[in-house]
Amino acid sequence: PLIRTRKPDWLRVRAPTSPAFAETRKLMRRLNLNTVCEEAACPNIGECWTQKHATVMILGDTCTRACAFCNVKTGMPGPVDVLEPVHVAEAAGELGLEHIVITSVDRDDLLDGGARQFVRVIEELRKRAPKTTIEILTPDFRNKSMDAVKAIVAAGPDVYNHNLETVPRLYPTIRPGARYYHSLRLLETVKGLDAGIFTKSGVMVGLGEERQELHQVMDDMRSAGIDFLTVGQYLQPTPRHAKVVAFVEPKTFASYAAIARAKGFLLVAASPLTRSSYHAGADFAKMQAA
Ligand code: SF4
Ligand code: SF4
Repeated sequence: PLIRTRKPDWLRVRAPTSPAFAETRKLMRRLNLNTVCEEAACPNIGECWTQKHATVMILGDTCTRACAFCNVKTGMPGPVDVLEPVHVAEAAGELGLEHIVITSVDRDDLLDGGARQFVRVIEELRKRAPKTTIEILTPDFRNKSMDAVKAIVAAGPDVYNHNLETVPRLYPTIRPGARYYHSLRLLETVKGLDAGIFTKSGVMVGLGEERQELHQVMDDMRSAGIDFLTVGQYLQPTPRHAKVVAFVEPKTFASYAAIARAKGFLLVAASPLTRSSYHAGADFAKMQAA
């Protein structure tokens, strides 16, 4: 693959300066909520927050894992905030969200991996923001009982997302705390428990994966019944993180998208700036209307 060190033009974004951006930030601080937009240093924050689209990251700002691509800090997390579910629902109401994406850090320290907090968040959202569709992006709950996943599925999110992140060959360096087939099976289990929930997964490209390997991942996802796919460019958040091996060209993303659609995904988003939650609400609404 093409090796480049400077960011190509197609990855340049405008600095976040709009009044709506500032308001979104103020709201998050007031409700004591973390966002993956900030913690992951997402390049789309200017665009998304200007439209008041923010992805809340529950269960604290400290993760028990240390994935080589991720900017979230690693360490021993603090206690679970019991007010968080209500605050998430308030934020959804105040931002006027038609669709909300909720993610979390990994909480390997908790017996249920944090599953109960996901359930409470879904319950509060249903109560206080009944029109908002709910997409959750969960950890892998590896080494936890399957009851964790069952409880979340029973709470009935509209979309259940868990990212495979990269091709299996790169797991030992990029996602050392996780196992490819475990993650795949998690999504297959969700679908098996409730076929009415849309399942979703995503990968980052530019980490050294080969095209054939990515095609195989798509096939694996389809065999696990995964409905939606996102593919985005990996960006190195700090020099301590995994290096970018290639800046994948927009036309290559377009070809990945075409292949993914041919393989039967219901919804495909593939572009350099695609992230799990990027335009997630609009894409979901469009698919439902189709
Ligand atoms: Fe936040 Fe997702 Fe938008 Fe990034 S793409 S700013 S994580 S909502
Ligand atoms: Fe980041 Fe998630 Fe990995 Fe934690 S588990 S380091 S939040 S990608």
